Amino acid sequence: MKKNNRAVVVFSGGQDSTTCLFWALDRFDHVELVTFDYNQRHHQEIDVAKEIAKQQGLKHHILDMSLLNQLAPNALTRQEIDVEHGEDDELPSTFVPGRNLLFLSFAAILAKQIDAKHIITGVCETDFSGYPDCRDIFIKSLNVTLNLSMDDDFVIHTPLMWLDKAQTWELADNLGVFEYVKEKTLTCYNGLRGSGCGECPACVLRQKGLEKYMGTR
Ligand SMILES: [Zn+2]
Repeated sequence: MKKNNRAVVVFSGGQDSTTCLFWALDRFDHVELVTFDYNQRHHQEIDVAKEIAKQQGLKHHILDMSLLNQLAPNALTRQEIDVEHGEDDELPSTFVPGRNLLFLSFAAILAKQIDAKHIITGVCETDFSGYPDCRDIFIKSLNVTLNLSMDDDFVIHTPLMWLDKAQTWELADNLGVFEYVKEKTLTCYNGLRGSGCGECPACVLRQKGLEKYMGTR
């Protein structure tokens, strides 16, 4: 199979990366998933990712990235750190420095191994909560760097980059997986699937987008 038809999706089992998974399945003949285990606060995230991969019959690579937690403890990996949004120009406590740099670099190494040209990630500048490594300029810069580092021609795709949460729901709907994404994915910081706890920042954002989209559906 041609390299141009093969893709790797950076996959967490959340709403965004699951929508990206179906976006990729719609375009490429061969899709494999990569999930990073960095001692997420809720190990359910890994279980949910595994389950979705299995249901879709896709090869799923789970890579141990616990060194990230060792280097940079944060609210996503340590129970004792609260999930908070930063004040003004401060970064939120969920920010893990270098996370997307590392994840996309490892995804590219994997892509090289399985002879895939395309790498898909659900990063988004619209709702980017101040994460510098979710910006379009960073992804473009890294794409050039990865190609130079491995003498390759990877293409990093970011289908959600300029979408708000309502538009991400719309994309899932257009791909025919609205209900699937709504029921099966895990976005909640408290580890509850689907509509989640309804109170954490991730749930509030997800719910707001869903309501906005439902209002136009
Ligand atoms: Zn929640």
